[in-house]
Amino acid sequence: MKTIAILGSTGSIGTQTLEVVRENGDITVAAIAAGSNIDMLEAQIREFSPKLCGVWDEERAKELAVRVADTGTRIVSGMDGLMEIAQMDGYEILVTAVVGMIGIRPTIAAIRAGKDIALANKETLVTAGHLIMPLVKENHVRLLPVDSEHSAIFQCLNGEHRNKIEKILLTASGGPFRGMTREQMKHMKPEDALKHPNWSMGRKITIDSSTMVNKGLEVMEARWLFDVDLDRIQVVVQPKSIIHSMVQFTDGAVMAQLGTPDMKLPIQYALYYPERRPMGGGRLDFWELGQITFERPDPENFRGLALAYRAGREGGSVPVVFNAANEKAVAMFLNREISYLEITDLIEASMDHHKKIEAPSLEEVLEAEQETYRFIESRFGR
Ligand code: NDP
Ligand code: MG
Repeated sequence: MKTIAILGSTGSIGTQTLEVVRENGDITVAAIAAGSNIDMLEAQIREFSPKLCGVWDEERAKELAVRVADTGTRIVSGMDGLMEIAQMDGYEILVTAVVGMIGIRPTIAAIRAGKDIALANKETLVTAGHLIMPLVKENHVRLLPVDSEHSAIFQCLNGEHRNKIEKILLTASGGPFRGMTREQMKHMKPEDALKHPNWSMGRKITIDSSTMVNKGLEVMEARWLFDVDLDRIQVVVQPKSIIHSMVQFTDGAVMAQLGTPDMKLPIQYALYYPERRPMGGGRLDFWELGQITFERPDPENFRGLALAYRAGREGGSVPVVFNAANEKAVAMFLNREISYLEITDLIEASMDHHKKIEAPSLEEVLEAEQETYRFIESRFGR
C-alpha cells in the first residue's frame, strides 16, 4: 500500500492524480491541498478521507472546516498548512501539482523530511534547482518527473548510464499559434491562447505553451533533472504530441517514448516507479496515424524560448526573474490588463533590469521574485 500527499489536488494534474488513485485502488491519500476551491476539496475529503487538507485562503479554510466537521479530516491553511502537510509523518510521495513558485518551500521541506517528490510543479525546479538537487542527494530521496517530456526522458534512460547522453531532444507541440508571426499574434486574446491543440491543462501552463515559455521552462527543468548542459538540449517541434521526448546517446542511437497525449501515464509511472501498471485509455494506432512530422522551433517569433535559453545560460537568479515575470505577466494577460506580446516583452524588460545574484539562497530567490513583481507593477504605475 502506497501513501501519497497532493499539493494542488483540485487542478488539472491533481484531479488526474486522484483518477489514477481511484483506478488502481491501492494508494492511500494522506493529505490534499488547494487554493480556494472548497467545493471540490469537500468532495475529495469525503471520497479519500485524508488526515489533513490545506486551503490557502484562510476564510475559505474556516468555511470548509465547518462543512467537514463530521469527518476525521483536519483543515489547515496558508503557507503553514502547506508546510505541515509537506513534513507530516505517514506518507511517502508528495505530488507537487500547485502552479507557480509557491511550491518551492513545501517541496524543500518534504525533501528534508525524506519524502520522494512526484514533480509536476516545474517552476520550483527552474527557480530553485541549485538548492533542490543537492538536497535530493543528501536526503536520498527520489525526484520523479511528472511533466510528460521529462517522464519520457526518464523512461528512455531506464537501464542506461547518464554519462552516455549526447543530446536530449525535447519535443514541443508548438501550441495554438504555431507557424504565426508576431504581427499575426499581436491581437490574440486569452480565449485564443487557451485553445491548446492536444492537451487539456490548467490556464497558466496553457498560455505558457502558446508563448513557448513552457518549453523554455522545460529546457531548464531538464537541465536540473538530468544534469545536462543547455547546449545539449534541443527543442524539436512535433505538432501531434505523439513522441513525448527522446534521448540521443554517444553512439548515435536515439531512444524515444511515444503514446497518446494523456497525463495519467506519466503520473502513474511516477507513483509506481519502477513498476508499469496496466492502464486503460487510448492506444496509438500507427496505421491510422500515418505520419509524424518535425519542425525547427521559431525563436524569432516565439521569444519565450529564446529568453529561456538566455536565462538558463546567465544562470544564478536570472531564471527566477524569467519565471516570476512570466507568472505576473500571464496573470495580467488573463485579466486583460496587457496584450499578448507584452508577456514576453515584460519578461525581457525584467531580465534586463535585474542585477544577477550568482547562487541565490532561498531567501534571495523569494526576494528576486518579489523584486520582479514590484518592477512590473511600477511600469504600470501601481
Ligand atoms: P491548475 O491551474 O489546473 O491547478 C493548480 C492547482 O494549484 C489547483 O489545485 C489550485 O487550487 C492550486 N493552488 C493554486 N494556488 C495555490 C496556493 N496558493 N496554495 C495551494 N494550492 C494552490 O494547474 P495544472 O494542474 O495545469 O498545473 C500544475 C503544475 O503542473 C504547474 O506547475 C504546471 O506547469 C505543471 N504541469 C501541468 C501539466 C498539465 O497537463 N496540466 C503538464 C505538465 C506540468 P484551486 O483550484 O483552489 O485554485
Ligand atoms: Mg510538458
